[in-house]
Amino acid sequence: MEPGKIKKLDEVVVNRIAAGEVVQRPCNALKEMIENSLDAKATQIQVTVKQGGLKLLQIQDNGTGIRKDDLEIVCERFTTSKLREFEDLTSIATYGFRGEALASISHVAHLTITTRTSDSKCAWKASYVDSKLTGSPKPCAGNQGTQISVEDLFYNVATRRKALKSPSEEHGKVAEVVSRYAVHNSKVSFTLKKQGENSTDIRTPPNSTAVDNIRLIFGPTVAKELLELSVEDDKLKFKVSGYISNANYSVKKCVFLLFINHRLVDSSALRKAIETVYASYLPKNNHPFLYLSLEIAPQNVDVNVHPTKHEVHFLHEELIIEKIQQAVETKLLGCNSSRTFYTQALLPGANPAPESVNEKNEQEGSNISGDKKEKIYAHQMVRTDSRDQKLDKFLSRPAKNNSEPMDEDFEDTGDTGKSSSSDPKPVRREIKLTSILALISELETSCHVGLRESLKNMTFVGCVNPQYALIQHGNKLYLTNTSSLSEELFYQLLLTDFGNFGVLKLSTPASVKELALIALDLEESGWSESDGKKEDLAEYIVSLLKSKGPMLEDYFSLKIDDDGNLCTLPYVIDDYVPAMEGLPMYILRLTTEVDWDNEKDCFQTFCRETSRFYRIQRNNEPMKDDADNNWKWTIEHIIYPAMRKSLLPPQHFAQDTTFLQIANLTDLYRVFERC
Ligand code: ADP
Ligand code: MG
Repeated sequence: MEPGKIKKLDEVVVNRIAAGEVVQRPCNALKEMIENSLDAKATQIQVTVKQGGLKLLQIQDNGTGIRKDDLEIVCERFTTSKLREFEDLTSIATYGFRGEALASISHVAHLTITTRTSDSKCAWKASYVDSKLTGSPKPCAGNQGTQISVEDLFYNVATRRKALKSPSEEHGKVAEVVSRYAVHNSKVSFTLKKQGENSTDIRTPPNSTAVDNIRLIFGPTVAKELLELSVEDDKLKFKVSGYISNANYSVKKCVFLLFINHRLVDSSALRKAIETVYASYLPKNNHPFLYLSLEIAPQNVDVNVHPTKHEVHFLHEELIIEKIQQAVETKLLGCNSSRTFYTQALLPGANPAPESVNEKNEQEGSNISGDKKEKIYAHQMVRTDSRDQKLDKFLSRPAKNNSEPMDEDFEDTGDTGKSSSSDPKPVRREIKLTSILALISELETSCHVGLRESLKNMTFVGCVNPQYALIQHGNKLYLTNTSSLSEELFYQLLLTDFGNFGVLKLSTPASVKELALIALDLEESGWSESDGKKEDLAEYIVSLLKSKGPMLEDYFSLKIDDDGNLCTLPYVIDDYVPAMEGLPMYILRLTTEVDWDNEKDCFQTFCRETSRFYRIQRNNEPMKDDADNNWKWTIEHIIYPAMRKSLLPPQHFAQDTTFLQIANLTDLYRVFERC
């Protein structure tokens, strides 16, 4: 055997092995070819694949094309039109091995190039094997630009071929490369399709933007949660720009589009560093979407990077990574208003009435939040435990005298009170007293329109305790003071249903005198020796209230019999019985706090005192049987529905702490998710 022949054989094998190192799978070859098309100033790049690129990988561009004369050497190793002087080598070094892509591909696949330059009359087609033309280029029809077809990849490298057995996996990798370059080169239009299929897997328009292409490829969910990032550092000589997802968004696996000097690469050091920042913003095991374009002085990028080693290293790596980390942290902090969660913004009042007021008035009667113009997405809603919400609806209702079923939300109880459906509803008495009419019109004039809307359209979230509850309106969450709200509710109902109350009968009439004596014993009464004997005071209370008896019974269904016993109280809201612990003080205060001399003041102060007794009490549970959570049931299913129906919140509720906006749900949702 002649030594020369062996040598030649050696060279082919060596080239093939070398090529197999450069091109490990279809997507590596594609990446090189996309970069060639971009170098050739293409504005349109179409990729067609068959079997994930294993059978066919074709790329068509509308770039400069390749001169016919160059076709002979274009696939030779180290042949490039992009390097003229040796000095260029360092500045272009970021692209690693130059002039090797086409040569390598020709060693492991059937390569065909069809190309036409602007000054050529026709296109030229040439095929290659092992860097060499298989025949002279043939003239053919074609538009300006280049089409490169790579067929039967690794036809001659059995081991490599066997290692790649899943076309669908390869297709996925191909799609990943196309989509990433499409985001990074948004002016260029990209398409990816499977051969023989009309529909495209990826299609981006020309002159698009990175965000639009992210929306097209990665979806609107991530596209609307992007923060723009831009950092420049003269000392470290680097520049970063791109888009990163905010804390509202997360995915199970980090999506990281990293370009260094416009070449798609990977840097696990940078990825880990950024993920550390996100760890405190995202739920466990959730990750961000990141698209970063990093530009580094070319001489600072490791020139010894192999083309398939996507993993890059660069000078001042740690310092640059730290700068990027800081920038990401700043961005996330900036958009994360849940950090102001505890600052407790007071509701409107100072602010003008909420935006939605006008349209709300037009759609009077609709209180389904879904009707609102602004759509509320599921993730913007507070999630309460649904079992908690639903189960207690089936709990037995508070014990009471009449046992007829109750209207769920009081939507159709014509007038409050007097309920039994078996009893005919008494005809409503029309009230013409100017004092009452004046008091009612005061309610209307002092009503805060914005709060009224919030109340009307609220979703009840839950009770914090007897005094406080959480309600949701739009995507805002409010801490509401149930005590003050219910006191106002009862006050208003006592005025608006004046003269029309049902009767709440005490099972055993209570002696007013005894009630008064109990009250005087309470510290709360503030009784002192100088006030006179308790016994005498109690007698006085009985006689005073007895003298008002007929009027109280007539207007308020509050009956005191001839023996000085309290028999009935006004039945203000169906199914609601005030906490009887408050009865003694109520009786006492009717004497001390009500102005019995002036008609209007009398009604106003009487209603105030009565509502004070009826309201949901701050400290003690309104219903004693806490085990049944009856107070919660009452608040959710009786008090708040009644407020939704008719309460006109006075202006001052917007300034005091009756309505406290504690969160924007978009932010709060994240807090919950993280737990
Ligand atoms: P490099 O890109 O490093 O120059 P390649 O092997 O990738 O090496 O390409 C070799 C040469 O072939 C390029 O320098 C370029 O002149 C030419 N070429 C390759 N693809 C295209 C294309 N799509 N359009 C125009 N010219 C191309
Ligand atoms: Mg190239």
